[in-house]
Amino acid sequence: MFDSLSDRLGGVFDKLRGRGALKEQDVLDAMREVRIALLEADVALPVVRRFIDQVTEKAVGQNVLRSVTPGQQVVKIVNDALIDMLGGEDVPGLDLEAVPPIVIMMVGLQGSGKTTSTAKIAKLLKEKQGKKVMMASLDVNRPAAQEQLQVLGTQVGVATLPIISGQQPTEIATRAMQAARLQAVDVLLLDTAGRLHVDQQLMDEMKAVAAISTPRETLLVVDSLTGQDAVNVAQSFAGQVDLTGVVLTRMDGDARGGAALSMRAVTGKPIKFAGTGEKMEALEVFHPSRVANRILGMGDIVSMVEKAAEAVKVEDAEALAKRMDQGKFDMNDLRMQLKQMQSMGGLGMLAGMMPGMKKAKAAMQASGMDDRVLLRMDAIIGSMTPKERVNPALLNAKRKIRVAKGSGTQVQDVNKLLKMHMEMSKAMKQIKKMGGLKGLAAMFGK
Ligand code: GDP
Repeated sequence: MFDSLSDRLGGVFDKLRGRGALKEQDVLDAMREVRIALLEADVALPVVRRFIDQVTEKAVGQNVLRSVTPGQQVVKIVNDALIDMLGGEDVPGLDLEAVPPIVIMMVGLQGSGKTTSTAKIAKLLKEKQGKKVMMASLDVNRPAAQEQLQVLGTQVGVATLPIISGQQPTEIATRAMQAARLQAVDVLLLDTAGRLHVDQQLMDEMKAVAAISTPRETLLVVDSLTGQDAVNVAQSFAGQVDLTGVVLTRMDGDARGGAALSMRAVTGKPIKFAGTGEKMEALEVFHPSRVANRILGMGDIVSMVEKAAEAVKVEDAEALAKRMDQGKFDMNDLRMQLKQMQSMGGLGMLAGMMPGMKKAKAAMQASGMDDRVLLRMDAIIGSMTPKERVNPALLNAKRKIRVAKGSGTQVQDVNKLLKMHMEMSKAMKQIKKMGGLKGLAAMFGK
């Protein structure tokens, strides 16, 4: 996601940060490079212009240039402008405050990922918000579209409206509303028919369905890989129906990010979700500030912590949190963390989210460090005695040799692990000083 843009901007800002003092010309030069980076990322030209003007005006001000850390300040200004461009701090979540059944109408072109996204959102509402959800496919155009939704429904454990062949979309919508009322469904997701192009018949059909179901949310699904076309499609839809938000799919394959970066500014519609893969879990609630942080290589700590929380059993997480709050962190804790890293998709997945890790990842790959390292570290801890795990200070030279032999590694590997453990336990003590995990969470505004 945003890989090439992130690399380009990283280069520009490394130069800025590296300097003690900045002149106006330095900022203007940097902005020229940012402009090129954004255009290469396929961001719409007017959006790029507005962005550069906004940032330049703030960044060449005397209080920035004369400050102690001008480079950092410029990066902060760019970060804020990026958040703005992506939709601002407060993208509203789904509006589910109404008398049930609350209807979410999914619209979009064929192949955009509409059916997949419908099932992903249904899963999310069921599992994360405890909603009783039902889905209905109104797609009578594409062969087997209704069956496809049914299969996905079974997969995510969400009911789908039984299929009656020969019914028109408005008839299906009426039947879905009745079924949802009868079965006391909280949220009804309507997967409308797609088309290859935006056409009047499609728009009329959507309006007729909307008239019957009065959707609380109308979400447009577009494929981020189509770049500015996705933005144009969104504009056409927005002119016809009351869109409440956009679901941007295939973000996993989108190294450029032009659609994501121009969508809000061009269409006025917020991106509410990002599709990040074919699996049913591959859907992220779109948080502009977290995405901006990822683009600027500052890491997306909040998402990382959330992912970690999902990968860990609640009891384990609570036990670890308690120990972290007390500033304790022994080899058993480290081992649990390594396991979590593996279940979260390994180093590669995490590297994109951690501050400064983009470059570290490249260095790691260059030096042959990969996910096998996690396994090796696990083996080293496995070769320690229970006492050594609780108190690694016991590991003298002789014991280290034993552990290295037992795990099929070298003493220097054991030393590396011990060093890493020391760093992490220092970090834990730091967390304790800041008021434990709750204090840390408060810093992130959550
Ligand atoms: P529809 O015609 O708009 O209903 O499109 P589908 O939901 O059938 O999706 C078309 C294809 O795109 C399927 O193979 C999906 O698995 C795939 N797809 C959907 N969303 C994503 C996504 O976010 N990332 C990736 N990589 N594939 C996706």
